Amino acid sequence: MDVLRIWPVLLLILAWPLQAGLLTTEEQNWLEQHPVIRFAPDPSYPPVEFFDENNRYQGITADFTRIIQERIGVSLQVIRMENWNRVLEAAKTRQIDVLGAVDSTPGRQQFMNFSKPYINLPAVIIVRKEVEGVLTLDDLAGMTVAVIKNYKTTEYLMQAHPELNRIEVPDAVSGLRLVSFGVADAIVVNNAVSIYYIEKEGLTNLRAAGESGFEWKLHFAARNDHPELISILQKGLDSISEEEKRDIYRRWINLDYPDWLISRDTLYKLGILLAALLALIGMLWNVTLQQKVRRKTKALEMELEARYEMEQRLRLLATTDELTGVYNRRHLLQILDTELERKRRYGRDFAVLMLDVDHFKSINDSYGHAAGDLALKRIVEITRTELRDSDHFGRMGGEEFVILLTEVNPASARIVAERIRSSIADCEILLPGGQSLVATVSIGLSFSDQLKQADDLLHEADQAMYEAKSAGRNRIRLARGVLVASDLKSQLQIF
Ligand code: GH3
Ligand code: MG
Ligand code: MG
Repeated sequence: MDVLRIWPVLLLILAWPLQAGLLTTEEQNWLEQHPVIRFAPDPSYPPVEFFDENNRYQGITADFTRIIQERIGVSLQVIRMENWNRVLEAAKTRQIDVLGAVDSTPGRQQFMNFSKPYINLPAVIIVRKEVEGVLTLDDLAGMTVAVIKNYKTTEYLMQAHPELNRIEVPDAVSGLRLVSFGVADAIVVNNAVSIYYIEKEGLTNLRAAGESGFEWKLHFAARNDHPELISILQKGLDSISEEEKRDIYRRWINLDYPDWLISRDTLYKLGILLAALLALIGMLWNVTLQQKVRRKTKALEMELEARYEMEQRLRLLATTDELTGVYNRRHLLQILDTELERKRRYGRDFAVLMLDVDHFKSINDSYGHAAGDLALKRIVEITRTELRDSDHFGRMGGEEFVILLTEVNPASARIVAERIRSSIADCEILLPGGQSLVATVSIGLSFSDQLKQADDLLHEADQAMYEAKSAGRNRIRLARGVLVASDLKSQLQIF
């Protein structure tokens, strides 16, 4: 049996399950009644469709056609015609049933039904590589532009830019050659075609410089007196996946197609995006800076605070006695000078009490030095409770203290001194070992006098204190000249 004759039958049987799933019974019946479907491609529209040197039907649409035939079991009889105009004529007169790569126009819709578009072919502006930058159609003003006869973009270009210098060419390849040779400056042509010819003809000095805004949408078309035909073809087209489409496209269109090709509009949008991005980076930078400044300020504040505290501590160390916390000798002498100045200026009186612990040596000897220290601290505590905030308390050294009672008269100063003495004498000082002791103090009192120096006042108080010691300790003595009118007895004691 003739193998050639049975193979379409074999194909039909093989494709049966697929076909059965895709087509309705009516459509299958229609196909059985129309075993021959005449199909005419554009003979020279590479890489969309064309006949190669061996007269084989090739190109993007040819690949689509092959898949459709396999999927739905339809068999297309490919007919070669001399040119595209002839193909359209034949379709009009029903000599041809199906076209594969055709633009849908109102005129053609009179006699053909169209499938949904299955491929978009944008038109790009092709220039020589020495022309720099991205171009739009408006940039072609003043250039010599090759325009293709009966081409969709040509019509538009002539209407929108009648001032363009035009050279008419019969087809895309002639136009591309003119641009390459420098006769024309630019041509607007579909990108698939331009890529195909640039490579095939070795027109390597050309490049795509921008989008034109035009796009061809290619459709299958079928005679409209057989409406079943287009729906059958559409089902075949629908069965082709996006991945399969991509593979076909890649096969025919060199991937060197410049990916960077971007229109002014896109550039503009990119510019805005970039500006927004920069603004965002700026804002983030600003926030980071602010945070840094805040952190730095905080650190500085903390450092200043620490320094202030340190200074306070140093000042305290410089003015106070470490063991008891009262003023040290140096600071007390300064205050004494200040008080004397006040006395001279404003007549504010004050008393100087010189206080010395009695037999302190024997306290140290009996209970130890630490107990002595503790006793000193307790004596200071007790004394403090008898003083006002405006009084000044200082340690002159060892177990000797000076107290300045401000704004007092001799009588009240003496009362305060007496209270201090008795409070100390009445207090039992508890020691860590469970022991306890009672300390007494002797106090000498001198009184402010604007004619006297600090040394004089201290010396007088010291003298009075020694007098108290001599008189038996645990008592108070007033310096010479300090008169307490209400107390004649003490006056007598002074002399
Ligand atoms: P008086 O009644 O005559 O004042 O007898 P006193 O023993 O208190 O006199 P004196 O001045 O001879 O002794 C003072 C002693 O105080 C001598 C010293 O060892 C002791 N002393 C001085 N400073 C300190 C101190 O900071 N801590 C202790 N625990 N003892 C001290
Ligand atoms: Mg003493
Ligand atoms: Mg002493």
